[in-house]
Amino acid sequence: MTSLWRDRTPVETDAHLDERYDDIVVGAGITGLVTGLLLARSGRHVAVIEARDVGAVTTGNTTGKVSLLQGTRLSRILERQSEAVARAYVEANREGQAWLLRFCDEHDVSYQRRTAVTYAAAPQGLDAARSEHDAARTLGLDVVWAESLGVPFPYAGGTTLEDQAQLDAMELLDTLVGELRREGGTVVSGRRVIGAPLTGSTAVHLEDGSQVSAENVVLATGVPILDRGLYFAKVEPDRSYALAFRHPSPPELMLISADAPTRSVRDAPSCEGRLLLIGGEGHVVGRTRSTAAHLDALRDWTREWFPGAEETHAWSAQDYSSHDGLPFVGALPRGRGHFYVATGYGKWGLTNGVAAALSLTKQIHGQRAGWQTSISRRITRPSGAMEIARLNAAVGVHLVGDLALAELRSLRRPSEGEGRVGRRGALPVGESCVEGRTCAVVAMCTHLGGTLTWNDAERSWDCPLHGSRFSPEGDVLEGPATRPLRNAVTTT
Ligand SMILES: Cc1cc2nc3c(=O)[nH]c(=O)nc-3n(C[C@H](O)[C@H](O)[C@H](O)COP(=O)(O)OP(=O)(O)OC[C@H]3O[C@@H](n4cnc5c(N)ncnc54)[C@H](O)[C@@H]3O)c2cc1C
Repeated sequence: MTSLWRDRTPVETDAHLDERYDDIVVGAGITGLVTGLLLARSGRHVAVIEARDVGAVTTGNTTGKVSLLQGTRLSRILERQSEAVARAYVEANREGQAWLLRFCDEHDVSYQRRTAVTYAAAPQGLDAARSEHDAARTLGLDVVWAESLGVPFPYAGGTTLEDQAQLDAMELLDTLVGELRREGGTVVSGRRVIGAPLTGSTAVHLEDGSQVSAENVVLATGVPILDRGLYFAKVEPDRSYALAFRHPSPPELMLISADAPTRSVRDAPSCEGRLLLIGGEGHVVGRTRSTAAHLDALRDWTREWFPGAEETHAWSAQDYSSHDGLPFVGALPRGRGHFYVATGYGKWGLTNGVAAALSLTKQIHGQRAGWQTSISRRITRPSGAMEIARLNAAVGVHLVGDLALAELRSLRRPSEGEGRVGRRGALPVGESCVEGRTCAVVAMCTHLGGTLTWNDAERSWDCPLHGSRFSPEGDVLEGPATRPLRNAVTTT
């Protein structure tokens, strides 16, 4: 599936990597590219190393809202953290948003100003929407309650924040790459980092057997690909879905529901007039019966409330959420002060990713953003520890549940678009058929051994433990895994 933003020629990158840099940034999403640009602007010799292509994972598949009103995020943080920490979160996002829109203004990246809305679709959702309204007010946002907004779908009331923005994420990334290269930085794609030594000089090892060294390494890989710090166990990978439609009158608002099922709505300019974008249907990666059914649910909803809408694009993506709604940004434990991470944006990474880049760049220069100091004072209350335990209990349930697989012999061969997991001896084996090609892989995640499930919308093998994903042939697509599925065997 291809997102509206990624339906274009791939971003041009460099072919050559030096043996040594001041700073290596791993990952060419918004976090990696803004970090790389800030470091290059400060005179440092920088390389961004991307495993796939620019924007391939989350940033190129976002819904592109650049907003300080972020669903029910602020009330969630205020429930779990002090007001000072929640204010620091808003401050970080405000700075991230301001930097991003200034960059767009200075480099002709188009964006549209829109009012952001967190709304209740039904009266039962009003408490959540009201709580967000109150939290936003407490934290200094100038929100206004709107009883009605004239939208064509169920709306029971919501909180609104004027003058937020929306953009095309790939236009942004393309321009960031151009600027970074103009500042003397290097961006290479198709080069996967598979590890970094714990001792000796700071360096990264690439899949092709080469090694590149640097003073600092920033892991801007969504979830960190090194297990030091156990971030994979502190965040939950959440996948959701999006569709673009031709429609004569999409609302000129950026809406997201406070109640379930989540519905996210915005418009987008195109050469054929404004398009309607609908998103939602989030779930933990690998823990759903059919991912295609989630897209169908969004299609049904759109058909009901925007009759005549004609679909142009369908896509899905995942992001990582922490137990308390705050990202993890800073030095990697046991990284000797030379490795940095940023993760846990909970689907609000366009502002959080830039804030992380600003913070990491400061840290590399031996400084600290004021809000970063406050956020680092976040507390893990007993309830927070319980939420982390809950994330990992769900992981445990999947480990145990996965043992009860049928013998592969008793399963029929998959038909087109299908993937099935069975046991061959002690091993879980996944068989899939995509575009007439049947593949068999060991369906065991190379990160921590979770049994993979078939994603029938994206046609991939997804891990229900920590969100790693693999192609039908076993290549790594995303997540904490860095190695392809073992013993992948193509049978036809
Ligand atoms: C469906 C959806 C809608 C969203 N909508 C919004 C929105 O409207 N507004 C908003 O603010 N946020 C939104 N988000 C969240 C936002 O898009 C993300 O938080 C943000 O894009 C994450 O950026 P990133 O740079 O951290 O990660 P990514 O964009 O995923 O970049 C990480 C990069 O690292 C690369 N990489 C990974 N491992 C390796 C390796 N071993 N070696 C080399 N490279 C590697 C990957 O290939 C990838 O390109 C949404 C998220 C989702 C899932």
